[in-house]
Amino acid sequence: MLTIKGTTQLLGVIGCPIAHSLSPIMHNAAIAHLQLDYAYIPIPIQPENLSVAIAGLAAIGMVGFSVTIPHKQTIIPLLAEVSPVAQAIGAVNTVWRTSNGWAGTNTDVDGFLSPLKTLSQDWSQVTAVILGNGGAARAVVAGCAQLGCAQVIVVGRNAEKLAAFSQSWQKSPLAVNLRTELWEQLPELLPQTQLLVNTTPIGMHPQIGESPVKAEILAKLPTGAIAYDLIYTPNPTQFLQIAQKQGKVAIDGLEMLVQQGAVALQLWLQQPVPVAVMRESLRSLWVR
Ligand code: NAP
Repeated sequence: MLTIKGTTQLLGVIGCPIAHSLSPIMHNAAIAHLQLDYAYIPIPIQPENLSVAIAGLAAIGMVGFSVTIPHKQTIIPLLAEVSPVAQAIGAVNTVWRTSNGWAGTNTDVDGFLSPLKTLSQDWSQVTAVILGNGGAARAVVAGCAQLGCAQVIVVGRNAEKLAAFSQSWQKSPLAVNLRTELWEQLPELLPQTQLLVNTTPIGMHPQIGESPVKAEILAKLPTGAIAYDLIYTPNPTQFLQIAQKQGKVAIDGLEMLVQQGAVALQLWLQQPVPVAVMRESLRSLWVR
């Protein structure tokens, strides 16, 4: 149990809406385990109030905070420092206080990479295909670049959005071997793909039971290739169930969620954090 006292230091998450956020559960579980005098609270902030609100959070001495929709991009010009990875992605999800003001980074890349780094794989031979071209796809592109993938192909349904996505990476050193393709090309891409990542919401509520790739198309992905779904509930998704049946290596989004939070908490607390406690606090929500 957390006890809030006069000395308790504040962490939190800003967003709008924020009621659905799982971050308070995960972070407070870790704080309680470490018996630290901190509390992590949800802070609803309307988009038009972002600037005044984060100045207020500095004024009350908040240590740091997570950032979720719709503030991940709009907070960038309000920060004194933005890490290179957050600049490349164009989104910040973790903010901490410095003597100059707020500094921001993006820990989604660390979260995405964490389960992949446990595999023994020569990434320089890997073609990665990313389904979707939204915010999460940007972190996945940066992650694949960090792994050193031979080629990264982003597959989307809207040619204009794909062109804008490509354009936004033009000057980034992170996206040397990046190209985009329309969804119709997927069956031809899959036989040469070793890492397939779903960053679309197909498979989560209200599309539970749907897969972004039909079984007969997914069969074209080689046996032993990695099928990675960023969705963490339901777990496993329909996409991963099909992939598993077909002998692919299935990775769900829970570890990414846990690890991006763990990296952020470590940054704020400046000490190792109990990742297993954070993971279990979320698992217990669905297993009840
Ligand atoms: P987003 O910015 O809204 O992007 C979603 C992308 O999916 C867009 O490119 C969209 O296409 C595409 N899409 C949506 N419906 C589609 C459909 N029916 N057919 C084809 N493409 C479709 O969302 P996001 O922030 O990237 O999040 C995406 C997913 O990742 C969510 O399920 C989220 O929960 C998950 N996620 C998980 C973690 C984690 O820690 N595990 C972290 C971040 C996100 P258009 O651009 O054409 O609209």
